[in-house]
Amino acid sequence: MFKVVRGTKDIFLDEIKYWQYVEENFKKICKIFNYQEIRTPIFEETEVFIRSIGLETDIVEKEMYTFLDKKGRNLALRPEETAPVIRAYVENSIFLKKPLSKFYYIGPMFRYDRPQAGRYRQFHQLGVEAIGDISPYLDLEIIILSLNFLENLGLKNFKLFINSIGCKNCRVNYQSELKRFLEKKLLCNDCNRRLKSAPIRILDCKNEGCKEIAKGIPEIFNFLCDECSEHFEKLKDSLTNFGIEFQIDPYLVRGLDYYTKTCFEIKTDLLGAQNSLIGGGRYDELVKEFGGPDTSAVGFAAGEERIVFCLKKQKIEIKEEGIDVLISTIGDKAKLRGIKLLFNLRRNGLISDHDFRTISLKSQLRYADKLGARFVIIIGEDELKKNIFLVKDLKKSVQFEVSEDDIVNFLLKN
Ligand code: AMP
Repeated sequence: MFKVVRGTKDIFLDEIKYWQYVEENFKKICKIFNYQEIRTPIFEETEVFIRSIGLETDIVEKEMYTFLDKKGRNLALRPEETAPVIRAYVENSIFLKKPLSKFYYIGPMFRYDRPQAGRYRQFHQLGVEAIGDISPYLDLEIIILSLNFLENLGLKNFKLFINSIGCKNCRVNYQSELKRFLEKKLLCNDCNRRLKSAPIRILDCKNEGCKEIAKGIPEIFNFLCDECSEHFEKLKDSLTNFGIEFQIDPYLVRGLDYYTKTCFEIKTDLLGAQNSLIGGGRYDELVKEFGGPDTSAVGFAAGEERIVFCLKKQKIEIKEEGIDVLISTIGDKAKLRGIKLLFNLRRNGLISDHDFRTISLKSQLRYADKLGARFVIIIGEDELKKNIFLVKDLKKSVQFEVSEDDIVNFLLKN
């Protein structure tokens, strides 16, 4: 028997309603905030991710699904969606058409990480990217969007953490300070290498020893330039002004190199070790890095598996809509008439079905119940003789005889 590949899963049956609920809510809030959907290919040139996420990150170093295609092109399944969105933005010169572009996406991402609760090799992200403005109020907008999204789902017990990791100018001084501080410390092999090229990445290391050392690392705030400090202050002030609770985490750097200034994360204590629900931040260099003009941007990505897990854990009920009509028939002649009616109802937009097996009326009525049908239409010998349909309204527990001419209108009206 074939089995689903390790770190991936099938989403269907009782599970699918959660996914549809999350995605519908996400699309709704993005529409309200005036974000437009973007869909990019599942795979890209590997270089798209190396240039953006950075060579020294876990994603690029260890977790990418890369392959050579039949022409020897080096391709990668997307581990995240910001880089593909910016690739599309620059390739299509969107900056010439719109001063500010706001996109949202929903889709699968791929990372070869060790699978565990809340961590998969194929997982799904819902995210937004706002490209074209450096205003801290755009950071505020996407933070509010992400919080409203979780609130609308009915989720509780999540917390916002923010930080600023400065721009590339602030980073020069900070990285030399980090080097000085970490030089004589006992780091893992990966971090010893990172110490030379990207010491800030040591803050992402999952090694317990490195995590302990990282707790004493100098905070970045003293190294921020005036512009980055002011940006961070404005963001904090506006969050406070809007009554949004947050905590500053000076070690929040997110495992991707492209971030500048604001970084944020929404965490929950429902998830255990994988406690991050949403992660995001500003990336003011990426458009330029990809060959576009100097353009600031900010975005976030939410993990759909983790959100679904929290919905279940918090026992948030998702109403399932039943079907409008189930057609029950007795005998071959009635079945044919029933099937004809079925396609007619469907043409008129009524969600309808029929149990195509030849089973007893009792079983058919049980099936109607299981499907949450509002009406059952019974066609037996009597109904054939009288040339009518017997319509049972299961909600109101009443029944009517309705003629063929009136049946669609009768159902639509009710
Ligand atoms: P990142 O792209 O690493 O900033 O992650 C953004 C969000 O995606 C996280 O907060 C998680 O909710 C989710 N996420 C990241 N990696 C995984 C994974 N391997 N499995 C499931 N969800 C993930």
